[in-house]
Amino acid sequence: MRYSGFQVIKQALTGHKGWTPAWRDPDPQPHYDIVIIGGGGHGLATAYYLAKEFGQKRIAVLEKGWIGGGNVGRNTTIIRSNYLLDGNEPFYEFSLKLWEGLEQDFNYNAMISQRGILNLIHSDAQRDAFIRRGNAMILNGADAEMLTTEQIKARYPYLNTNDARFPIKGGLAQHRGGTVRHDAVAWGYARGADSRGVDIIQNCEVTGFKQENGRVVGVETSRGYIGAGKVGCAVAGSSSRLMSKIDMQLPMESHVLQAFVSEGLKPVMPGVVTFGAGHFYCSQSDKGGLVFGGDLDGYNSYAQRGNLPVVEDVCEGGMAIFPAFGRARLLRMWGGIMDMSMDGSPIIDRTHIDGLYFNGGWCYGGFKATPASGFCFAHLLARDEPHPTATAYRFNRFETGHMIDEKGMGNQPNLH
Ligand SMILES: Cc1cc2nc3c(=O)[nH]c(=O)nc-3n(C[C@H](O)[C@H](O)[C@H](O)COP(=O)(O)OP(=O)(O)OC[C@H]3O[C@@H](n4cnc5c(N)ncnc54)[C@H](O)[C@@H]3O)c2cc1C
Repeated sequence: MRYSGFQVIKQALTGHKGWTPAWRDPDPQPHYDIVIIGGGGHGLATAYYLAKEFGQKRIAVLEKGWIGGGNVGRNTTIIRSNYLLDGNEPFYEFSLKLWEGLEQDFNYNAMISQRGILNLIHSDAQRDAFIRRGNAMILNGADAEMLTTEQIKARYPYLNTNDARFPIKGGLAQHRGGTVRHDAVAWGYARGADSRGVDIIQNCEVTGFKQENGRVVGVETSRGYIGAGKVGCAVAGSSSRLMSKIDMQLPMESHVLQAFVSEGLKPVMPGVVTFGAGHFYCSQSDKGGLVFGGDLDGYNSYAQRGNLPVVEDVCEGGMAIFPAFGRARLLRMWGGIMDMSMDGSPIIDRTHIDGLYFNGGWCYGGFKATPASGFCFAHLLARDEPHPTATAYRFNRFETGHMIDEKGMGNQPNLH
């Protein structure tokens, strides 16, 4: 069924009895041409583009839980392409362009809102760094604008620009950045993929791989063995656990990251604000809740929940720049498992085992990457060569030393 204004009116007039399920609930087939492990944003987007753009058939997405139960439905919904390095900026700008046409493309309302993102500046050194980053963005076809404190005050009157420790001296704005309703992205891609014949199989955990003559030929699952011509892994925070089943060690650690939502308020935040110096960022959802977050919990974990010291730390960061928000009550919080790579950048590559492909290492920035990640992974799976915007996301960069160290932190995953 195609969604449209006409369809909404028609269904309203006929008692909403004609809506069909958004995707099927098929049983697994004995064999597929391509099996994608992980029904998060990246796995579903990969299946969607494989079917739509690369003409592939007989595709399955295997998800151990339910669609949208992982990080795709747990993140703080921010999209942007404000990166510095060559290996990253073209890829994230490609992603932002895909976001811009996505709702029409997959015929689903994902509430994409280009309300703008602002990175705050507190020192001259930070200003120099942001001017450099803004120039790199513009050179790669993205938009960037340096704002003065006065311009920021006019847009965000609740910001405390005169904090003694973190005075706000300007900011780097990307007006095309913004927010997207995160679980609608999973549902939109799932529906789009399903309508092109992809089998989305929920409650189906991959527990092992089968190899023949050095090639992966299928996967063992909680719903039985499934044969596959090619297998693509896109399980985000569970990457190291999954790949250990085929004796692969990844340059990656898993950490927990928390998100927070306040009670609903009248509009107080027109866009997204990030306070990197104090590790806090915030936007306001269309329902009115302040959606915010900060640092990782700081220890390796596969738990989807965090601890109170980080709650305190994040709220302190928020209070430093938005003191008025201290009056709002915290309504909900949760955690997600982050696949933190050693240089903070992702991997979209073939593995050393024939037929086995890997997508992961998204750290805490993989939501905005969802469309490009899916497109580039589909390109790799279908054509066996990397997409031009993802040529740097290879495993061997950790051997050759060609790190994409956006933050200049070195091999310290907990800082990315
Ligand atoms: C609190 C928080 C805030 C964030 N904020 C942002 C943000 O504002 N902007 C941004 O760009 N990014 C953000 N991120 C990061 C982003 O959410 C992730 O990088 C991205 O969602 C990961 O890709 P995914 O959607 O495919 O992951 P997931 O949705 O986690 O998908 C992986 C799926 O694999 C499944 N799986 C695991 N093991 C198996 C198995 N053995 N068999 C079958 N299935 C399996 C899991 O159940 C899961 O559904 C945030 C993350 C968190 C936790």
